[in-house]
Amino acid sequence: MNAAVYFDHNATTALDARVLEAMLPFLRQPQGNPTSRHSFGRQARSAVENAREQVASAVGAHPSQVTFTSGGTEADNLAICGITSTMPPSTVAVSAIEHPAVFRPAQALFGRGWQSARIPVTGAGQVSTDALRNLLRQKTGLVSVMTANNETGVIQDIAAISEIARSHGALMHTDAVQALGKMKLDFNALGVNAMSISAHKIRGPQGAGALILDKRVDIQPLLRGGGQEKGLRSGTENVAAIVGFGLACDHATRELTEHTRRMTQLRDRLEAGLHRLGATIFGSEAPRVPNTSFFAFPNLEGETLVMAMDKQGYAIASGSACSSDSTEPSHVLLAMGIAPDFARGAVRASLGAGNDEAQIDGFLRALENELNRLKQLTAVAV
Ligand code: PLP
Repeated sequence: MNAAVYFDHNATTALDARVLEAMLPFLRQPQGNPTSRHSFGRQARSAVENAREQVASAVGAHPSQVTFTSGGTEADNLAICGITSTMPPSTVAVSAIEHPAVFRPAQALFGRGWQSARIPVTGAGQVSTDALRNLLRQKTGLVSVMTANNETGVIQDIAAISEIARSHGALMHTDAVQALGKMKLDFNALGVNAMSISAHKIRGPQGAGALILDKRVDIQPLLRGGGQEKGLRSGTENVAAIVGFGLACDHATRELTEHTRRMTQLRDRLEAGLHRLGATIFGSEAPRVPNTSFFAFPNLEGETLVMAMDKQGYAIASGSACSSDSTEPSHVLLAMGIAPDFARGAVRASLGAGNDEAQIDGFLRALENELNRLKQLTAVAV
């Protein structure tokens, strides 16, 4: 049975009804392949190019800078593997709190003669710029730091980090998957060479994303074949999903101010209640995207709390939702210096468009009941 209240929007979001409507004709009709010359093909091509403009506009880029991919993971892999494959091996420096879609491909470069270095973060979850400068004393080809973290919501000063990378001769990639739709994003102002984004975090469809590239960047494709996306991503375009992604970007941009205002209000209400119940909220001293709360109670496993709250009808996540089959403590919290036992207690509530005050209040009441019940069960103070 589905949980009645969904607080896991950083994992994925429900498709916006307006986006679904826009996608349906491309799923129902005889489909044109965007590479075909006939009218069906031209219609599909025009829809893809319209979406490219919408996506570019959401991040302040030119449409020619947008390469569509199957999502954030592919965009990250394309950035890390595609950019480094044009360079002589040196070091790829990624922050210690990156999503596996960045740190795994960075590790895999080892087999191609590269070193992978982790840039440490402070206790508040922000990249230490001193540590980065220190690290960049060794020859570094590429730096990758995410714009906003999927677990804590903490925002990095990407413009400052890009400047440091550039002054040391390194290129700069940012995974902005969790930032899109939650804060203003401007590719040029951030000074990055590459940026990954994904549709399903902003009420677009799953299975669509993009890599935004600085035009001067030399990059090799991961997928070779028919030469779509200017040879950078072969494979017939997922037209319906790309159309949905474009429209979701449009809505995200237009509704950003109101959305962030509402999310901040709900998140603050939630966190006031969490504080009353004795929770520690991770990363709250740093700037954060407004929808995310990552918190823990002493002597309480995150998994236990997630299951208990699911029974009460509330969907929250333990640790990183993207690796929720893992019982390891969050690598993000360990990098922030949180003790492993306490980190194992971390749970994330990530709010979204469908949430309201009544749901927050209901959640806090159910949480209080569960904490009392679990306290009695284990006879341990929580
Ligand atoms: N990067 C971050 C920060 C994410 O949170 C996620 C998904 O949770 C991804 C990348 C992967 O994106 P996708 O699910 O579109 O492959």
